[in-house]
Amino acid sequence: MKDTQDNKTNELTGKVSRRRFFRDATATAAVTAGTLSLQGCGGNNGSESAQKPVGKPVEKAVQEPGKVKYVILGRTGLRVSQFLGDRMAEVEMYKAALDAGINYWHKFGQWVDPAPYELFRNRDRDSFYCDTVIGTLDKDKAIELFEERLAKTGLSRIDGFKIHSQYKTAEDVKTKMGAVQAFEQLKKQGKTSFLMMSQHTNTSEIFEAAIESDMFDLIQVPVNPTVPRDYFTKEEYSQTTQDNYLALIKKASDKGIAVTAMKVFLYGAKNWEEVPDLKNRVNKYLPDNQSIATALIHWTLNVPGVVAYGSMLYSFDELKENLEAVGGKLTAQENEGLKRFAECMGGYYCRMCGACERANPDGVAVSDILRFSGYYSGFGQHNIARAFYADIPYSKRVDAVKNLKPYEEACPYGLPVAKLLRNAHSKLA
Ligand code: SF4
Repeated sequence: MKDTQDNKTNELTGKVSRRRFFRDATATAAVTAGTLSLQGCGGNNGSESAQKPVGKPVEKAVQEPGKVKYVILGRTGLRVSQFLGDRMAEVEMYKAALDAGINYWHKFGQWVDPAPYELFRNRDRDSFYCDTVIGTLDKDKAIELFEERLAKTGLSRIDGFKIHSQYKTAEDVKTKMGAVQAFEQLKKQGKTSFLMMSQHTNTSEIFEAAIESDMFDLIQVPVNPTVPRDYFTKEEYSQTTQDNYLALIKKASDKGIAVTAMKVFLYGAKNWEEVPDLKNRVNKYLPDNQSIATALIHWTLNVPGVVAYGSMLYSFDELKENLEAVGGKLTAQENEGLKRFAECMGGYYCRMCGACERANPDGVAVSDILRFSGYYSGFGQHNIARAFYADIPYSKRVDAVKNLKPYEEACPYGLPVAKLLRNAHSKLA
C-alpha cells in the first residue's frame, strides 16, 4: 500500500519511483543507445569507435541496443559502461543499474549500507569489474586493507587496486613505493590486476608525476568546469593552469592510461543551492537541477582524454538522469549555462589545489575540510562527514588556528577561505 502511495506521489511530483524506473528503463536505454550512434564528441574520449586500447588486444565491441554506452578503459582493455557505478541509496537501485548494463563498480568493499555484495557474488564474475581504494602507502597496511575488502565482498579478486589521495608531492610518487609493492604481491597471487590511482589534493603535480612514472593503468581526477579554474576567466594564471591540466589528461590518455572523472557534480544539487544567485543566473539556459547535471556530464565527457566518470547516487531520479545523459553531446545552450554556473560556483568551490596548505605548512587541512563540508551539504552525509572531520588531528582543524587570513591570501582562486572554513567547522564539529 505504501509503495502504491509513494508511486502516486512520485508520479505527481515528477520523481522517479522504483516501479516507474523499471517501466521506463528499457525505453531510456534504447533512446540513449540511439543517441549514441549519432554522437560526435570533440575529443578522444575512449569510445569504442574513437580509441583503440593499448596493450592486450580487445574484442571489438558493439553498441548493444537497450544498454548504456561502453568504452575501453585505456590499456587495461576493460570494456566498461561509461557511467561507473558507486555506492547507491537502495538495493533496488543497484539491481536497476546492473540490469541497465552498468558493469564497473568503484570502492568495492567500502560501501555503507545497503552494500548488497551478494548481488555481485551471484553473477558471472567476468560480467563486471570493480576497484577498491587504498588509503595508505604502507605495504603491510595496504595488503591488510585489500584482504579485508576481499573477505567482506566474498569475491576472489578485485580488479583495480586504487591508491587514493595518499601522495602529497611528486617526490612521494617516486619514492614511497609500499602500496605499489603491495599491489605487485597481490597481483602475483591473482587477487587483483590493475594498479590505479585517484587524487584530489595537489592534483596537477601528483597527476603529472603519476603519468611520468607510467605505473598506473587508470588515474581518476576531478573534472568539472571549475577545475582547476573559473570557466572562461580572463585571468592569465588560471587560464594557464587549466590548459596545463587538460593537457595532462590528454597526455595520460595518449599513453594508454585511462583517465576517469570524479567531482563532476561539485557535490550535487543541494550544494549548488547554497551558492547565492546561482539558480537565477543559469535558469535561462539550465532551468532545473536535472539539466545542470546533464550539462555537467556532457561537459566532462567531452574533455579530450576523459573516458568515463563515476558518482554516488541517491535516488532513481539521479540514476535515470545519468543513464540518459551518458553519450550526449554538449549543446551551445548547456555551454552558456555552465559558464554562468561556473562563474557563481567558482567563488565557493575549493579546487583542492593545496596552494593554501603549502603556504602554511603543518597547518589547517583546508582541502580535506572543505571536501567534507561538500559531503555534508551536497550529499547529506552528515554522520560520515562529521566522522571524517573528527579523524583529523586537532592541530589541523579549523578551531586550532586563530588567524585564517594567510590561507585566504594564498588561494589563487580568491575564495573566501576563512569564511568557508568557519562555516564548515560549524557543520562538522
Ligand atoms: S582553498 Fe583555494 S588554495 Fe586552498 S586548496 Fe582550495 S582552491 Fe586551493
